[in-house]
Amino acid sequence: MTPQSQTTRFAPSPTGYLHLGHAFSALFAHEAAKKSGGRFILRIEDIDPVRCRPEFETAIYEDLAWLGLEWETPVRRQSEHLAEYRTALDRLDEMGLLYPCFCTRKDIAGEIERSGHAPHGPDGLLYPKICRAMGQAEQDERMGQGQPYALRLDMAKAQRLAGQLTWRDLVWGERRAEPDRFGDVVLARKDVPASYHLAVTLDDHLQGVTLVTRGEDLFEASHLHRLLQFLLSLDVPLWQHHALLMGPSGQRLAKRDKAETIRSLRERGFSADEVRRLAQSQKNR
Ligand code: GLU
Repeated sequence: MTPQSQTTRFAPSPTGYLHLGHAFSALFAHEAAKKSGGRFILRIEDIDPVRCRPEFETAIYEDLAWLGLEWETPVRRQSEHLAEYRTALDRLDEMGLLYPCFCTRKDIAGEIERSGHAPHGPDGLLYPKICRAMGQAEQDERMGQGQPYALRLDMAKAQRLAGQLTWRDLVWGERRAEPDRFGDVVLARKDVPASYHLAVTLDDHLQGVTLVTRGEDLFEASHLHRLLQFLLSLDVPLWQHHALLMGPSGQRLAKRDKAETIRSLRERGFSADEVRRLAQSQKNR
């Protein structure tokens, strides 16, 4: 059953200026919350210290306010919650579901070339499990030497524990979760003690999000998020993945397409109403 009032969120990463696709996505989440009499949350997904910049975060607030959106404050900024992601990782570790991975991109590429086998997952080539069988002594030694490592999920073990899970998208219906498409996915990066998948899943739970709305480009991620929800005993929301806006030549809008940013439209004299309509009409093209 669909609960009547929904808590939705828009969760941009401050890695560039918001474009029309973001406007559509934010308006979509905002409307879903408002029409159900629920809550709308804005969250800043800024765990990547290299790609995220304060000026883009400021621009997010300005652009969304200009578009007429209102959100709850204080806004959750993921970079301020690394300790919570750490706690979740510790829990998965205690369950024996994580292993450290010391591989560089080159190690992984080399192994894939040697094996002649390169299955693809939603986030790229699947990890060939080089570090999974590493003994405790070698792990301790390499950590002792200060070698950087990521933490990976032992997908086979995790799936055995979870059994067959399902999740529900309001448009696409009931889905069987297929998290193994991601292989032994990274849950804590070498440079950040978290990953997009871990942080977003935990945050949606902690913030009481009941309906995850986002673009179809993240549809596959929901298979994995469903598994993480099971492993960490998190609430399971509903999902609604919406179509992506396309640029004039049919390409996906990206942050680098400057002409399509909300602020460039504003600077060119468009009103907020016009930009809202433009976002809607592009979706319906
Ligand atoms: N932070 C993600 C992005 O900017 C979106 C996360 C989500 O909606 O799950 O693409």
